[in-house]
Amino acid sequence: MFYQKDVETMRRADIEALQLQKLKKMVDYCYHNIPFYHERLQAAGVTGDKIKTLSDIQYIPFTTKDDIRDNYPFGMMARPMKDIVRIHASSGTTGKPTVGVYTQGDIDVWADLIARIAAASGVTQDDIIQISFGYGLFTGALGLHYGLEKLGATVIPASSGNTAKQLMMFRDFGVTGLVATPSYALYLGEMVKESPYPASAYKLRLGLLGSEGCTEEMRAQIEKNLHMFVTDNYGMTELGGPGVSGECELRCGLHFAEDHFLPEIIDRDTLEQKGPGEVGELVVTTLSREGMPVLRYRTKDITRINYEPCACGRTHARMDKVMGRTDDMLIIKGVNVFPSQIESVLVGMEHVGPHYQLIVRKQNFLDTLEVKVELTSGELLSSYGELEAVQRKIHDRLKSVLGLETKVTLAEPKSLERFQGKAKRVLDLRNQPEEKA
Ligand code: ZN
Repeated sequence: MFYQKDVETMRRADIEALQLQKLKKMVDYCYHNIPFYHERLQAAGVTGDKIKTLSDIQYIPFTTKDDIRDNYPFGMMARPMKDIVRIHASSGTTGKPTVGVYTQGDIDVWADLIARIAAASGVTQDDIIQISFGYGLFTGALGLHYGLEKLGATVIPASSGNTAKQLMMFRDFGVTGLVATPSYALYLGEMVKESPYPASAYKLRLGLLGSEGCTEEMRAQIEKNLHMFVTDNYGMTELGGPGVSGECELRCGLHFAEDHFLPEIIDRDTLEQKGPGEVGELVVTTLSREGMPVLRYRTKDITRINYEPCACGRTHARMDKVMGRTDDMLIIKGVNVFPSQIESVLVGMEHVGPHYQLIVRKQNFLDTLEVKVELTSGELLSSYGELEAVQRKIHDRLKSVLGLETKVTLAEPKSLERFQGKAKRVLDLRNQPEEKA
């Protein structure tokens, strides 16, 4: 189903013409309204006039998370506060949060963006959607909330927490759709499986999961337990929140809203642009944002872009599911390791569940990686031989996938932490005083 079919099925040449026109305007808008960009663009000698083709975007300097942090809270704002109707902020696990401000125009476009990805994933006016993201400064909950309402679905602003009540609302209100982080959906799925009610008491059919990565294996697990079809969507506070891209029902990449965002892929070492289909860091320029636009924002997310039209009829480019964040990438004994690679191995194995923790240590000046994973049932606990066989199998699979020795520890069922928001599965202790081995 389409929400804005005309735009979503534009010819590529028309998309590019629209992007070029908006990019030129956006460069001038940033130059005139944001001192930070005024200085940057002046130093680089770039004005809207100088942008003749989309590839001229390469002359515009990148914007990084540090730039945004250095201008906390409102230094990147392009409008006076009287034009701003909403402020959001990211959790800010390291230092100050990242702030996003919205004009009424930004809020309207945002709702359209969400309505688009929701319609693309199969949501209709008949759906009753429970939003189990935490409400608050975080962009996820209110972003999805307004967009789903705009599409005409029924929204339940459940927020996160109180899992028994979440399940009660699923049953009593006949909830057909869930918005949550993959980690929380996983937990809700476990609870539904254990609830005394038959599966038929739950009417869930769709899940719009986001705000953290989700491997295919994890998705399959969530779909199995909650009996719903799950799509992935993408966004971040720096770009205005969710709605930047999202999967259609064919799930062959996340369609960018290319009329509002201009994506690029760069090599993160040379910073050179990469071609279609090549893997690298995603860089995004906002083409419509008024409150806090960004030019060439380095997302640190690793993916690639496919410009071929999709079988669903949409022509907007598709990015692969994010393979990992350069921030999340662990370098262990010189080997690049993404937690998602480990998750893919674990979720596909017998006897262990999707709950795991990665612990990185430095022992005798060498990095070590411990993979702690939970057993699905207590049955194996009585047999040392069987436990050892499971452990060995996981170790060998990880070694072939990562090319790295790991220490695999099996944990008792339900012993590892469950998450209601974004999961925190990596514990890097290398900067701590060395442990006694
Ligand atoms: Zn599609």
